[in-house]
Amino acid sequence: MDVAGAEFKNNYRGKQNFLRSDALVFDVDNDGHDQDQWNDEGNWLTIEDFKLKFTDYEWMIATSLNHQKEKNGRMPRDKFHVFMALGSFVEDIGEYGKLLDLMQFVVSKDFHLNRIDSAVGGYSQIYGNQETQVFYNAGESILHLLDSVRDDYQQQPRDKSQDRNIIWQQNGSDSIDISEFLGSWDYKNIISQYDLTEFYPTVVTHSNGYWMAKCELHDDQNPSLMIYDNGGFKCLSNQCQGNEHPSWSALDYVALKQNKSKTEVRKEYCDRLNLDYNEYIIETNSSDLEGYVPITNLGHIMVTFEDYYRLKELNQNHAICTIEGDVCVLLYTKASYHQEFGEGYKTILFQSRSDFREKFSNDFVQCKSLANTADDGSKTWSIKIQTLGKLWLEWDQRREYDRAHFHPADERLVYKGERVWDYFDDWSSASEKNNWLGEDDSRGLIRFIDRQKLGQITSNAQAEDACRLYLNHISNILCGNYQGEKKRQLFEYILYWMASALTKHLNNRTTVGLVLQSGQGSGKGLFSTFFGQLFGHYFYHLTDNSRLTQQFNMQMKDRLLVFADESVFAGDKRAVGTLKTMQTENTFTIEPKGVNAFVVNNHRRFIYSSNESWVINKDADDRRYQVIDVKNKKMTRGEYKRIEQQWNDGGKEGFYYFLKSDKIQDVIQDFDFEANMISTKAGLEQIKQSDPIIGWFYEILDNGGHYTWDLGRSICEWGMHEGNHFSTDKDAIHQSYVKYMETHGGTTWAKGKSQLSNRLSRLHEDGIIFFKKSRDPKTEGNPTVWSF
Ligand SMILES: [Zn+2]
Repeated sequence: MDVAGAEFKNNYRGKQNFLRSDALVFDVDNDGHDQDQWNDEGNWLTIEDFKLKFTDYEWMIATSLNHQKEKNGRMPRDKFHVFMALGSFVEDIGEYGKLLDLMQFVVSKDFHLNRIDSAVGGYSQIYGNQETQVFYNAGESILHLLDSVRDDYQQQPRDKSQDRNIIWQQNGSDSIDISEFLGSWDYKNIISQYDLTEFYPTVVTHSNGYWMAKCELHDDQNPSLMIYDNGGFKCLSNQCQGNEHPSWSALDYVALKQNKSKTEVRKEYCDRLNLDYNEYIIETNSSDLEGYVPITNLGHIMVTFEDYYRLKELNQNHAICTIEGDVCVLLYTKASYHQEFGEGYKTILFQSRSDFREKFSNDFVQCKSLANTADDGSKTWSIKIQTLGKLWLEWDQRREYDRAHFHPADERLVYKGERVWDYFDDWSSASEKNNWLGEDDSRGLIRFIDRQKLGQITSNAQAEDACRLYLNHISNILCGNYQGEKKRQLFEYILYWMASALTKHLNNRTTVGLVLQSGQGSGKGLFSTFFGQLFGHYFYHLTDNSRLTQQFNMQMKDRLLVFADESVFAGDKRAVGTLKTMQTENTFTIEPKGVNAFVVNNHRRFIYSSNESWVINKDADDRRYQVIDVKNKKMTRGEYKRIEQQWNDGGKEGFYYFLKSDKIQDVIQDFDFEANMISTKAGLEQIKQSDPIIGWFYEILDNGGHYTWDLGRSICEWGMHEGNHFSTDKDAIHQSYVKYMETHGGTTWAKGKSQLSNRLSRLHEDGIIFFKKSRDPKTEGNPTVWSF
């Protein structure tokens, strides 16, 4: 059984809902980040150790799922959860955390590792398992013991991995001021980034304010290397280099140990941590050529610090990338067609290297070029004038990718040995530090959401309230022509479609598009463009069919949602055809200027909006469009403003929360948008209009027979119970067909009788209306008889 060791607000588990607890709950895994250390049994806190140490106290132990199991080739070990009685309730989450810290202090005091998993507490879900073993010990509350160590706890260094700013003992032989050292580039950028065991893997114990390790610089039988919390060291053995050259800097220890220069060690760490070594040179003013830093892999070109920062600035918006074999520059910019929503909605264009050079061709930089290296290694430099663009292209630290790829999924693909720009990543947060990939937590659509507003939402009910007016708009306007069950189904269908558009972009993408139909000003645009805001620049509002060209195609390379406004296709069959292909194709070809054409995956969904009754050339067998006849009610400026204001005040975040909630995401996992399509009046209208023969036949069914003009316009009824047989031989039926076509814009369709026969045959083959076909032996030419 799964449990949690606290009471929670509204019974929702979580730290933020913590009310009170009278049990200290924690997790012992005997494992952690530094696996080597944890492979040492001497560091383990076993159940036996625990029993011995806490024999006077009341506790219960339950073994965890992986207790004494070999995992990934690592030794089996004790893994368990502990529940210790506190004897009274703790109501403050801060105090509860403090008790956990004190417990950590008690069990980890003489160890280099934290032996309790600090991520777990009474507010955590503790998973049960079938094989769990339970141990119980009666005794007193642990609270007394924890209270008794509070003072000692206060005086120990805070955290074993991070806070090393407290120096307990000055090293007499060291001349560098410690506070200066803690502000040094090496300490800030390298040493403080690691746990002490990175530099001192042999560290054993902690006492009197410093750590002791076996010295690796001499043959050390007993730990004789003193290590300070900030990483400084001194070996106590007289003959050891570590005694002659103690240092505050752990890099000195690594250099001595590996017999390298400190510069080499620093450069290696720069590589590992994606740090710019030139930043070190600039901050410490330690260049070979004062005021200059090297920018080429050979170091033969140097620029001033100031120009170096200008080059770095270029990396913010430019990157070299190979696109289908063509080397070009990715340019992060606003495009001319730039759409609403301001900053953060930039796009990536391909720029040729010559255009890039051209752009910076009037920006000259005075740099230094290596003229000669003498035998003693001393160098002479000559002045050289170059353009900024050329220097950036030659710079070994220019931002660079082997290719670009759009993979709109939460998880990045793993590109072995390739540097790949994924269009789903956040360009603006990419830096040297994250290897130019962008921040993990800014990947995808989340970056278009105000995370602070989102964080304030804790339930679906709250989320729905936050976007109530927008939801009402969907319900009252988009579904406003329906009532009861039909309305509910259509409303749900729309929400599911939106939720799916938000999260399913890969093979699980539905190719069904939404078609919204109504008079002008009824809020179809509001529905679509507000939803589009959740997609940032992955949304495209198509308002002009001249966009349906090659250049436009380039803009489509990284889109997820396209809203095609009526002006694009009103009456333009070719545009409709293009859009239809865009909606359903799995891949499409992009043909950028100056770069080879390439094929990309199609991740787009489409919403169409039209004031015309005719929108899509919908074939009757087509399951590509959910057509919605939006309620024809003109929206007032005030109504629009109210929805907009609520949307901007957290409605957008509420809607995002709502669509991403398990409640909805669970439903759409297997939702079939084709099979579950809602039949609407507009949908039927589409069918009748896109294929007039269906419209004609529908009219016959609707009237119970065909029109006849023998005695003025009347209906010639068809039999209800006996079968209906008709053939092109029957002139009256053919006449009604011709008349229908004349009045429904289908004159090009209405040819001879054989044309009608062919069309009926098509309906039959397409499975729309099933006829029994036979030949009529009585008539001349033996025409087909259609029976149903
Ligand atoms: Zn030593």
